[in-house]
Amino acid sequence: MSSFDYDLVVIGAGSGGVRAARVAASHGARTAIAEEYRVGGTCVIRGCVPKKLLVYASRFHGEFEDAKGFGWTVPEPSFSWPALIANKDKEIDRLEAAYRSTLARWKVETIASRAVVTGPDTVRFLATGREVRAGKILIATGGYPSTWPATPGHELAITSNEAFHLLKQPKRIVIAGGGYIAAEFAGIFAGLGTHTTLIYRGTQILRGFDQDLRDDVTAAMTKRGVTIINDTIISRIEKANGALSATLSDGRTIACDQVMYAIGRAPNTRGLGLEEAGVALKPNGAVIVDQHSRSNVPSIYAVGDVTDRIALTPVAIREGHAFADSVFGNQNWHADHTFIPTAVFTEPEIGTIGLSEAQARALGPVDIYKTRFRPMKYVLAGRDERMLMKLVVDAQTDKVLGCHVLGPDAAEIVQMAAIAMRMGATKRDFDSTMALHPSAAEELVTMRDKWVPPTA
Ligand code: FAD
Ligand code: NDP
Repeated sequence: MSSFDYDLVVIGAGSGGVRAARVAASHGARTAIAEEYRVGGTCVIRGCVPKKLLVYASRFHGEFEDAKGFGWTVPEPSFSWPALIANKDKEIDRLEAAYRSTLARWKVETIASRAVVTGPDTVRFLATGREVRAGKILIATGGYPSTWPATPGHELAITSNEAFHLLKQPKRIVIAGGGYIAAEFAGIFAGLGTHTTLIYRGTQILRGFDQDLRDDVTAAMTKRGVTIINDTIISRIEKANGALSATLSDGRTIACDQVMYAIGRAPNTRGLGLEEAGVALKPNGAVIVDQHSRSNVPSIYAVGDVTDRIALTPVAIREGHAFADSVFGNQNWHADHTFIPTAVFTEPEIGTIGLSEAQARALGPVDIYKTRFRPMKYVLAGRDERMLMKLVVDAQTDKVLGCHVLGPDAAEIVQMAAIAMRMGATKRDFDSTMALHPSAAEELVTMRDKWVPPTA
């Protein structure tokens, strides 16, 4: 009889933790999972899922406008923020219940408590004070939104956590940041009719993305009503006339109803007891792991955002699955972090995979294929917005190294291109694939002319 209370204790019931717990249990491991907030974690409760629901809501605005060109008469539409939030909450409750019942079905014990590590194989559940011994401990505690406490009045600002639960739609919002969350929420609020200002510290939002994507999405967001102010930070937030006032580093002040920080997320290891248990952490608190998600303490593993590798849900899930199969299922594999497709659900949306043009050029000669065109639907709609499709190709091997799309359904298109690229598809493979007509995606298999930079 094992001297352990559980073969596995998972701390954190988010994307990575739930998958690891369920799969470990399916391999026969006696498994408990501790969750201090709500089962489902960031993605389900206050991340990808509620965000996408809000994105859908925000896009009706444009749809109503576009409908006129197709003969529809749309009476002046009105929007209810409380109705949207209530319906979103109902759906999140349903998903949380589904996650709970999946865990129960696999006989994973769910413990509603904050958990802390008290040693290499011991965990304490703070709700009851009970300490248990575990053969393996998996840290899957995710991340939390960063704020900037040095800014006077920072406590008046919200983060994405609170944005999902605002009682009233702000008439005016100032969002700090220029990454995924800032860009997506700017699109959401602007689409819903909020006067939206984005404050970014650098010269152009979405650093790290392909330059053409950045140029085009910046232009399109601006056209759709988002004011983007670069090279600036918020230096003070104050209450003013029943609302707020944000002072910028260039001296400007902006009156608004909400200020939102979207300036990154930090690994959630504060007060978790990891350092005391001997677990090595990065300076930002992330658990240092090898490719098998194992920390320097052999009984302690970590997956997902807390490891600060790639903070995306499918990655956390894959890492959790690989951990459980490898440690409890006798199937040794690890998550592959190459060719990960990703989307930014701005309006218009970005879908992207592989190397940007700049990254590829740094490695060797490349051929660029790109096209900008007005999607068919926008012609009758009278919408003056272009779609961008771009392939970055290795000039020597003909392999497609990067695929970047901006426009309607970009995420759906790039998910499929990802399969081909993972299989090592060449530009010739793309060219020999029959087009599906009429579609936007067919442009990816019909671009024949290499892009030539304009001469000065
Ligand atoms: P999480 O899902 O964060 O789960 C960690 C869990 O641990 C939480 O439930 C937390 O309450 C719990 N916990 C923490 N400490 C303890 C403790 N001591 N004891 C008990 N429980 C604890 N990714 C995408 O791929 N696509 C998207 O569209 C997308 N949109 C996003 C939108 C927003 C606004 C945000 C914030 C994130 C988004 N992400 C998206 C990222 C995605 O949500 C994360 O990468 C993913 O949730 C990480 O999963 P995880 O298992 O590492 O952690
Ligand atoms: P990101 O890392 O994407 O962006 C952070 C932004 O904040 C950057 O523009 C950064 O600027 C800026 N910033 C950082 N520190 C400061 C500071 N002190 N003052 C002012 N600005 C600052 O983080 P997010 O919070 O947007 O999202 C976290 C992660 O969650 C993402 O990286 C992504 O992995 C995941 N996510 C995924 C989504 C999806 O798949 N669609 C959606 C939402 C989140 P700079 O560029 O100059 O460093």
